[in-house]
Amino acid sequence: MWSRREAGAARGEAGGAQPRRAWGRRGLAPRRRRAPGLRSFADYFGRLSRARRELPPAPPSPPRPPAEDISPRDVFIAVKTTKKFHKARLELLLDTWISRNRDMVRDGDRDGWAVPRNVINTNCSAAHSRQALSCKMAVEYDKFIESGRKWFCHVDDDNYVNVRMLVKLLSSYPHTQDIYIGKPSLDRPIQATERISENKMHPVHFWFATGGAGFCISRGLALKMSPWGARVPWAFGGHFMSTAEKIRLPDDCTIGYIIESVLGVKLIRSNLFHSHLENLHQVPKSEIHKQVTLSYGMFENKRNSIHMKGAFSVEEDPSR
Ligand code: UDP
Ligand code: MN
Repeated sequence: MWSRREAGAARGEAGGAQPRRAWGRRGLAPRRRRAPGLRSFADYFGRLSRARRELPPAPPSPPRPPAEDISPRDVFIAVKTTKKFHKARLELLLDTWISRNRDMVRDGDRDGWAVPRNVINTNCSAAHSRQALSCKMAVEYDKFIESGRKWFCHVDDDNYVNVRMLVKLLSSYPHTQDIYIGKPSLDRPIQATERISENKMHPVHFWFATGGAGFCISRGLALKMSPWGARVPWAFGGHFMSTAEKIRLPDDCTIGYIIESVLGVKLIRSNLFHSHLENLHQVPKSEIHKQVTLSYGMFENKRNSIHMKGAFSVEEDPSR
């Protein structure tokens, strides 16, 4: 999903990492119920948001035998971006992991890559609101369904994806089964309220994989949310937005809600996905090449990134 690279664009112009903002607060509506032990709504929203959690580093998951032989072309990787980050973030991706994976972005009958077909103008609002972000996730999902590919993966535009490791990980699961894989950013299931009707609310709790680390869903599972796989469709067309309104949480939480709470499928936690909400310095140097996603960003005015030696300065490449 890429815009054509601007000819001669200098990496040096890419700018630094963007400071983190409180996630989606603007878009969250006040709630009636307050989770136990929380002092204020702001506190509550802070916990609902993709707040950083100092989870102790979990032991690496044991390698699984391959279940299916898949190639990068079987994976639909949707990268969420917005105009203001095209220069600062997207160009870095085009210069790095995307350029190494032309097969994935190539238009089937044209010998080029990053053809306009891969850039999808969502017509969603450019705001960082809950609704605008859900609108983009809805388009990502719809395009995946239309693509016919075996796996749907969502990442943000500040993620580095090691496609070889991603394919290796996904190939250890059959795409026809119910697979939802990623990493939570909270240390417990999120407590939320499902709106059943105008005056009827119902408490729910579920795990969700944080969008900022990237997550993947098998086609088998994705179809269960769609009008073709469910009596009540939860996604596709306008359905994802309606579901998001029922739960009133950011897009990645809505995905977790549909999968865990509605469909009863458990999130598979993988330590190979990393957002900049975790301390990236904790990823051991010897393990970096095995990770599926990495990220970079600012936390408490400090750079949070993977430390790697390389020819580029921080100004040229703020992602490491
Ligand atoms: N984003 C967006 N619209 C906006 C701001 C951000 O679509 O107005 C996207 C951005 O491109 C990225 C994701 O939302 O893919 C998360 O944004 P960011 O990294 O700035 O926020 P954080 O990770 O701190 O939540
Ligand atoms: Mn981010």
